[in-house]
Amino acid sequence: MGRRRDSVEVGIAVAMLAMVGFVSYAFKATGRVVADAEAVARDDVPLFGDAWEVRYLDEVLTHSASRYVDTSTAERVAWADRYDRAALRLEEIFEIARARANPRDIAHIERVSEANDTLVALETRILELADAGRTAEARAILGGEYVTHKATYRDGIDAYFAARKKHLDERGKKVAANARSTKIAVLVILGVIGGILGFLGRVNQLQRSRNAARVAERNAFAATQLRHARVHQGLEMSLTEEQALRTLGDALAEELPEWSTELLLADSSHAHLRQARTSAEDRCGPCCDVLTPDRCPAIRRGTSLVFSNTGSYDACPYLRERALSGGTAICLPLNVMGQSIGVSHSVSPSELGDGDFETIHEVVQVGVDRIGVLRAFATTETQASRDPLTGLLNRRSLEDRVQGLEARGLPYVVAFCDLDHFKALNDTYGHSAGDRGLRLFSRAIRSALRPTDLVARWGGEEFVIVFSEMNPAYAERTLHRIRESLATTLETADQPPFTFSAGVGDPRSESLHDAIQSADAALLEAKQAGRDQIVVSARELTAGLA
Ligand code: GH3
Ligand code: MG
Ligand code: MG
Repeated sequence: MGRRRDSVEVGIAVAMLAMVGFVSYAFKATGRVVADAEAVARDDVPLFGDAWEVRYLDEVLTHSASRYVDTSTAERVAWADRYDRAALRLEEIFEIARARANPRDIAHIERVSEANDTLVALETRILELADAGRTAEARAILGGEYVTHKATYRDGIDAYFAARKKHLDERGKKVAANARSTKIAVLVILGVIGGILGFLGRVNQLQRSRNAARVAERNAFAATQLRHARVHQGLEMSLTEEQALRTLGDALAEELPEWSTELLLADSSHAHLRQARTSAEDRCGPCCDVLTPDRCPAIRRGTSLVFSNTGSYDACPYLRERALSGGTAICLPLNVMGQSIGVSHSVSPSELGDGDFETIHEVVQVGVDRIGVLRAFATTETQASRDPLTGLLNRRSLEDRVQGLEARGLPYVVAFCDLDHFKALNDTYGHSAGDRGLRLFSRAIRSALRPTDLVARWGGEEFVIVFSEMNPAYAERTLHRIRESLATTLETADQPPFTFSAGVGDPRSESLHDAIQSADAALLEAKQAGRDQIVVSARELTAGLA
């Protein structure tokens, strides 16, 4: 990119330099043509004037000489004067002609000059003869020798002017030819300059459009970043999966108002898909009828699918079944840590807009990532708070929750349960039979309790139950139900039979610790009394309540 810009800048600089060179050449060439034309004109105009004046002066000389012979002595002064002035002027013209003459024309001038010298000599002779009164001889020269030399002289003059005219014509033609080629050159230069200007204009236009594209790209990037940050922030504040799904649905509705999106999530068995969220709460959303993950093409293929025409034969069958004609659909498989958790399904009545796919993909991905994090948190929390064998609360989390009850001022009753002769069961049937027995007993307790009651595996084969807002009589009754249900289950299960003993603590205890101690004391009584029984520590309190 940088190298390309450099070469464009070098190109512009070269083009500018060439333009300056062309313009100065055009100025010089046209200046030369004008100067030449002026020079030709300067020489051309006097040429004709001189030619006419020379002929006139020649006539004046001849006429003056002739009149000098024919007139009276008194008038001869005037004719002699005219003759001298004409001769002087002629001499002057020939001096100028010599200075201007082309080297080739010098011969003509010399010839004329020579003929002139001869004529001047003859005229001087004629004038002298006339002065001496020998007019007949003067006339004889005038009519004979003088005429012959006069003809030579005039031919010389004509030849000189003709040669000079020819020379000027040739120069004029050269100037005209030069002017023509200069005109062509200037036209070509103008064309080249036009081309260069066009090139520079095009470069400028390209530069502008490239800059505009760069600005648009930057703005789009900034908008994406802003959206990303907002979606992130919204999802980060969502502390449960339900909240995260709602935030995701709202973000999709706000960022892509043209689209309706539904999130179909697989249940824990991965056998079914359920609609977890739509971007439009008041509407059904796209409502895809796919029921299981293995039937969804996007999940099966593990890749995003974009359908530019939902009614077309190559669209997903679930879209076509809904007889959607036209419109666009985007299906994105949702994965958390490489595991499929469902699919997002978006439809729009319009054509796929610029960046729609990227926006949906980005927002959904951020949402799914958050769901993944929340699920990982939940798993870790469960693992930390529950007993792995039975799934019941562990000792620490039971204590935490009882603190919650105490903080809210709710009364509770504690029961302490211990399996009877469990060591013997382990020793006789093996440790795995013991584990199965522990799980079976846990299920029997859970199925007998209300959702508000708490139960924990306290350790080994000992369990603590906390009945919130209940009295010891209720606890005793529930423990009896557990005994019965355990016995019934063991009758049919492939499991060695066992029983349990339990003690119900004093509800007036100051703390959980005290309540457990009193329950443990009652349990000891039950053990001592022969096991498989329930002892209530504050029996007097249950009177009349049972
Ligand atoms: P008692 O009726 O007096 O309570 O007799 P008991 O044998 O149940 O009591 P004891 O305290 O002597 O033995 C408890 C036994 O519970 C020891 C151990 O084999 C068994 N046990 C404790 N935790 C587990 C467990 O996680 N799995 C299995 N399989 N057995 C366990
Ligand atoms: Mg024990
Ligand atoms: Mg025991």
